[in-house]
Amino acid sequence: MDLELSESELAFQAEARSWLAANVPAQPLPSLDTPEGFALHQEWEARLAADRWSVVSWPREYHGREASLVEWVVFEEEYYRAGAPGRVSQNGIFLLAPIIFEHGTQEQQDRFLPTMATGERIWAQCWSEPEAGSDLASLKSTARRDDARGGWVLDGQKIWCSRAALAHWGFGLFRSDPEAQKHAGLTYFLFPLDAEGVTVRPIAQLDGEAGFAEVFFDDVFVPDADVLGAPGDGWRVAMSTAGNERGLSLRSPGRFTAAADRLLSLYAERPDPRVADRVVDAWLRAEAYRLYTWGTVTKLKDGGDIGAAGSVNKVWWSELDVALHETALDLLGPDAELESRWLDGYTFALSGPIYAGTNEIQRNIVAERILGLPREPKGAQR
Ligand SMILES: Cc1cc2nc3c(=O)[nH]c(=O)nc-3n(C[C@H](O)[C@H](O)[C@H](O)COP(=O)(O)OP(=O)(O)OC[C@H]3O[C@@H](n4cnc5c(N)ncnc54)[C@H](O)[C@@H]3O)c2cc1C
Repeated sequence: MDLELSESELAFQAEARSWLAANVPAQPLPSLDTPEGFALHQEWEARLAADRWSVVSWPREYHGREASLVEWVVFEEEYYRAGAPGRVSQNGIFLLAPIIFEHGTQEQQDRFLPTMATGERIWAQCWSEPEAGSDLASLKSTARRDDARGGWVLDGQKIWCSRAALAHWGFGLFRSDPEAQKHAGLTYFLFPLDAEGVTVRPIAQLDGEAGFAEVFFDDVFVPDADVLGAPGDGWRVAMSTAGNERGLSLRSPGRFTAAADRLLSLYAERPDPRVADRVVDAWLRAEAYRLYTWGTVTKLKDGGDIGAAGSVNKVWWSELDVALHETALDLLGPDAELESRWLDGYTFALSGPIYAGTNEIQRNIVAERILGLPREPKGAQR
């Protein structure tokens, strides 16, 4: 693992740092789960895209810079160090785009990627269902063939779709072959959230904002052109993003090293020996995550893939995030009520061990696929 940046990587880092210093809004934007905040975050995405900073690793024709993986990680570090806004477009950029690049047709790439890069069209991930969360393949929403119209008709319900209350399009899996085995017979669809037959019902999260929505499908027509990958191959298509979500792309280490640095500054302002060890531990864990990620980057550069190691990242970043925020709140004491950045960060951090696959499931994956431990007997009690 080589942690020395090359000259061109250092130049890229310097360019990103100075652009962010000149452009990051001085005041934090309002929550992206409010209509006002959502619109301002979309404007921020457009600002990033105008100077090719919204999707640095993408091809130039889609607003990217063709940045290498190393440059991408460097950019993310700079982004969070600069205190830049959360990415309202992250479902699209980090979860959908990689599979559009991998499985989408040229026409789909040309049609969907540019507006994703500019933040003009925001995407929601519609995977989970009321009875299908950890066991996603047990999903029941259906797609039936409509040859006359050249497409499919969707029915069913999705839940916990982040951003869906305000987003424009969704992506999700539907059971297109009821006879097939559980993981087979699923198809991956893209659909506008204002299509006829789609009902979006917002769900308030802990802070009262509609961070999620339930999405109901009642005879929703989707043309063949909006099927991603081959019909029936949806599970394989979907799983090619799961490693991304748990692993590198969604939670690059810059986010946590920046939070650890903020925690150190907070401690310097109000030292408190009760919390000192935890501050150091949080910093150590953020640094360990950073180094582990650079190890993953090295592996990827050498032609490997993330695979089950994404589950190691997932457990690590999500529990680290809780520890960082809890420690800050303990330091702040009653003043925490006035420090919305730490307080909001804490309430969101609490959900980290649940979304992107719960940590119980990730630990099972680590145990079975990385450590080679015996499979847990069905129905085992802990
Ligand atoms: C902030 C947030 C954002 C989200 N955003 C989205 C989104 O944008 N799109 C989307 O589709 N979904 C989203 N989700 C949903 C998320 O993916 C699911 O909540 C998650 O996969 C768990 O599914 P579940 O809620 O059905 O819980 P369940 O699967 O019912 O699990 C309940 C509990 O049982 C445990 N458990 C279940 N099976 C096992 C097992 N085999 N071994 C050990 N323990 C087990 C789980 O770990 C968990 O603790 C989001 C969730 C949150 C909290």
